[in-house]
Amino acid sequence: MHSSNSVVSACIVCNSNEFTTLYDGILECNVCDHVVADLNLSSEQLFELYKKNYFFGEEYSNYVNDEQVLKKTSGSG
Ligand SMILES: [Zn+2]
Repeated sequence: MHSSNSVVSACIVCNSNEFTTLYDGILECNVCDHVVADLNLSSEQLFELYKKNYFFGEEYSNYVNDEQVLKKTSGSG
């Protein structure tokens, strides 16, 4: 019985189980460069990552300012 520290079972393209972490939650196959999501992360973590990439991508960079307003308006009511 041996333990594995790999969070992804195997690459769906080449069946390798060697991956390099590109970003948080994003893994790249060492053999064929196929990119997969880190299944060890919870859906909430993936959502947070996705949200950041989305809102800090291009024209949504003002979302940070909007969020301040939302917090104020939702405070009392
Ligand atoms: Zn692969």
